[in-house]
Amino acid sequence: MSLSVFWLKDDFRISNNQAIKALIEDKSSEKKTIYIYEKQQYQLCETQKWWLARSLEIFKEKLESLKIMLDVVHENSTKSIKKLITNSSLTRIYWNKSCHINENIIEDDIKKILKDNNIFYKEFEANLLNPVEKIKKDDGTPFKVFTHYWKKAEQIYLKNNDKYNSKIFKNYNQNLTKDKNIEAIYPKKNWYKKFEKYWEPSEEKAKEILDNFIKKSIEHYAINRDIPSVEGTSKLSPYIKFGQISVHQIMQKCLEIKNKKIGYRKYINEIGWREFSHSLLHNFPEMEANNLRKDFDNFKWNKNEKLLFKWKKGLTGYPIVDAGMRELYETGWMHNRVRMITASFLVKHLRIHWLEGEKHFRNTLLDFNIANNVSGWQWVAGTGADAAPYFRIFNPILQGEKFDPSGNYVKKWCPELKNIPNEFLHKPWEMPEALQKEKNIIIGKTYPSPIVKHEEARNSALRAFKELKK
Ligand SMILES: Cc1cc2nc3c(=O)[nH]c(=O)nc-3n(C[C@H](O)[C@H](O)[C@H](O)COP(=O)(O)OP(=O)(O)OC[C@H]3O[C@@H](n4cnc5c(N)ncnc54)[C@H](O)[C@@H]3O)c2cc1C
Repeated sequence: MSLSVFWLKDDFRISNNQAIKALIEDKSSEKKTIYIYEKQQYQLCETQKWWLARSLEIFKEKLESLKIMLDVVHENSTKSIKKLITNSSLTRIYWNKSCHINENIIEDDIKKILKDNNIFYKEFEANLLNPVEKIKKDDGTPFKVFTHYWKKAEQIYLKNNDKYNSKIFKNYNQNLTKDKNIEAIYPKKNWYKKFEKYWEPSEEKAKEILDNFIKKSIEHYAINRDIPSVEGTSKLSPYIKFGQISVHQIMQKCLEIKNKKIGYRKYINEIGWREFSHSLLHNFPEMEANNLRKDFDNFKWNKNEKLLFKWKKGLTGYPIVDAGMRELYETGWMHNRVRMITASFLVKHLRIHWLEGEKHFRNTLLDFNIANNVSGWQWVAGTGADAAPYFRIFNPILQGEKFDPSGNYVKKWCPELKNIPNEFLHKPWEMPEALQKEKNIIIGKTYPSPIVKHEEARNSALRAFKELKK
């Protein structure tokens, strides 16, 4: 008897998955897939527990159609692999390398154990366009500026990319069988049930979304990507995070477009930003919990639980900020433009540390990944690489007027404002009292008064920034 194993991680797809391809082609008498659930890893990611559990159910069904069993174990990865070696006839194991440095450390430990036990293993590159350590400046140091990084990374990718197998094996069966180890992963509160309305974590769905996006939206992406009320972006981020689709498949599909206009260019650049974030975190792992720019270490952040709570709940009194925070809580996703506005409001208007915002997004985003999240937060806070300078402070009123002029986005997520006249859409507190009564929007009662005044908050942030420079 010999056993070969596919170690499943964030790669819930059959197509374009080199590790599972290796297992399928393997000649062992027994084959299986193992998923190791480390509770610790998901401790602060409540929303993602739903995506993960659902993905496991769907993928299990798919594997069964290929006559491959899926074992979900709740344990620490190293211990679990050691047990597998002791208790089975394990001879070969395959996996796709994680794109996060902390997981790479675990993978390296496991490689050592496998080697010591004479077990064959193969690790494939799958989650980034280029191996993360490959893209360096000519002098061997890491890039800190996106345009320079991407110029080199894109060229190297285009030179080396292979045609990947994009065949989809089978649609999964909707009547999924229960597995108690998967059920135990679901979040304890039923609030996650609403995600089922918005998302289906399968590779078929990811492919369908990509195909539709290329057909209908990529051409207008350069403009529409900034308008949160239209479906102008791909919304593939949680699928990319959990590997229902790979960035290679996305690039391949984009390269097939005959007439590559500005929308294509902009979209590819965003995939480039994902690569850049992963490269940053790989080269500067300390940025997970610290300012990349050390000159910010003495910045005077505010500690204010009450304001932080109102920001999380979407009760700041600034409609574009509140709409974003409520979209996040309801759907587990938020539009990129609004992520920038809400994040800026937290770190500049409320002057609350970016780590607080990072933690909240980590807990509520279905697409959370540490590299993009930390880079996104440090970019907005001005503490990161190639970041927006701290003194450039988004005005939430002007941002709302520019990117949600119709108010469709705000009215969708803050329905109490549905009758507001356009001129007050993004500054409802300016409505005369009589009008408030007429429209049944009573500021301070049916919709909150602003928790800070824009001009005062802006000046206070600029003063704190000036202090830092002394
Ligand atoms: C404060 C803050 C926190 C963020 N946290 C995350 C996070 O945890 N996970 C995450 O995937 N993205 C994060 N982003 C980046 C971005 O907002 C999302 O990737 C994007 O909104 C996902 O929607 P989409 O798939 O429709 O994107 P599209 O516009 O369709 O872009 C396609 C893909 O490119 C990548 N991408 C797009 N924009 C960025 C960007 N600015 N940086 C890096 N990669 C990008 C994503 O993988 C995305 O799915 C964050 C941004 C900010 C400002």
